[in-house]
Amino acid sequence: MTARILVVDDVLANLKLLEARLLAEYFEVLTAENGQQALDTCASTQVDLILLDIMMPGMDGFAVCERLKTDKRTAHIPVVMVTALDQPSDRVRGLKVGADDFLTKPVNDLQLISRVKSLLRLKTLSDELRMRAETATIGVEDLRGEGRAEDAAQVLLVDGRANSQERIIRALKPVAEVSAMSDPQAALFEASENPFDLVIVNSNFDDYDPLRLCSQLRSLERTRFLPILLITEQGNDDMAVRALDLGVNDYIVRPIDPNELVARSLTQIRRKRFNDRLRVSVQQTIELAVTDPLTGLNNRRYLDNHLKVLFNRARTRERPLSILITDIDCFKQVNDTYGHDAGDEVLKQFASRIRSTARGADLACRYGGEEFVVIMPDTSSDVAANVAERLREAVETMPFLLKEKGIELGVTASFGISSLSAAVETPEHLLRQADRALYEAKNSGRNRVVAAAA
Ligand code: GH3
Ligand code: MG
Ligand code: MG
Repeated sequence: MTARILVVDDVLANLKLLEARLLAEYFEVLTAENGQQALDTCASTQVDLILLDIMMPGMDGFAVCERLKTDKRTAHIPVVMVTALDQPSDRVRGLKVGADDFLTKPVNDLQLISRVKSLLRLKTLSDELRMRAETATIGVEDLRGEGRAEDAAQVLLVDGRANSQERIIRALKPVAEVSAMSDPQAALFEASENPFDLVIVNSNFDDYDPLRLCSQLRSLERTRFLPILLITEQGNDDMAVRALDLGVNDYIVRPIDPNELVARSLTQIRRKRFNDRLRVSVQQTIELAVTDPLTGLNNRRYLDNHLKVLFNRARTRERPLSILITDIDCFKQVNDTYGHDAGDEVLKQFASRIRSTARGADLACRYGGEEFVVIMPDTSSDVAANVAERLREAVETMPFLLKEKGIELGVTASFGISSLSAAVETPEHLLRQADRALYEAKNSGRNRVVAAAA
């Protein structure tokens, strides 16, 4: 993992110490001796993580953190505050101004490296999503969702003891609804069935390794992105390090400071929601790029890509594959007589008849104006001819209703089908054959199905 880390401390010896430790792990290290220098560095170069001292003359660490977190250009950079052991209230204050984590002085090597790595892992994910959203020209602003980031968070608490469950529920009450469970396997099921924002695992089971649950949560598709906060025993660094390596997002040491629990839970919940929104919007962009907006069917771009995949698969598995091209008959007249909107309405209804005729495995696309293609995997030419005939009938026998105009319109369509055979060399070839068959259907009177010669 290579990343650029900015270390901020007014004491030169501290800077040198942290720098040496980070360099030993092959991180790139920048240093700043005061708050202003730190802000300048962040403004002029790309920084992946900041280790920030609190006590500094002039602008202290809290002020620096607050500035960074309220500036949208730097808000995504993880900040780890370095606090004094005898000032527990500093940690809470730090997390409240938006710090992602903290380390106590003197800094423990294991904690330093594992915290840094765990935060960098999270940042890599957010960066990736942010970048994709940006190239897709989605307003990243819209994705932040800061306003709603903290309401009604759903937390699943897995804790072997009733009294500690109670204490944690009470602590989190102002910020989250907590469902507590004491059976880890039941909790795993619960987590995969419900939209939680965070799972807190307390390592206080008599005969169960809590890391087993963490690892299962990480490997299940539906809980892969669910943040995990582990509660560990004082002095059990080993467990914390192993947990972070497994992908646990953060840990907190008993005895639990309620404020610290709240702040740290909120950090995870915020991140989760930020990433969720990005993921959804990336998904939407991908869908938009391959969907025809009028009919909701896939578009030609998608078809061209996917036909290749299905063609090659059918070839290697020696399975049949057929395609159908259909084109509405005399569609220009619909536009000319009833207007373009009426034409659009006919296209929509036509598409929905295709959709209800096609099977789940079939791929229906709008190929161009009033031309549609259905790819049918595992389908022989006989069956494809039946499908086409069924669709032809569904179009011809049921008039198209133009509600706004109060008109029922008779529509027909022509069909060309072709199927994979030894003579068909490429996906384009298969399409051309179907297109030629369609041309024949048009020329021989329309409203009919013609199969390409095998
Ligand atoms: P044929 O039976 O030979 O297919 O005749 P046709 O009139 O259907 O074919 P032609 O290619 O002459 O005309 C197709 C028309 O489809 C022309 C075009 O304006 C119209 N069209 C293409 N895309 C859309 C669309 O998105 N909405 C509407 N309303 N019309 C469209
Ligand atoms: Mg037409
Ligand atoms: Mg046409």
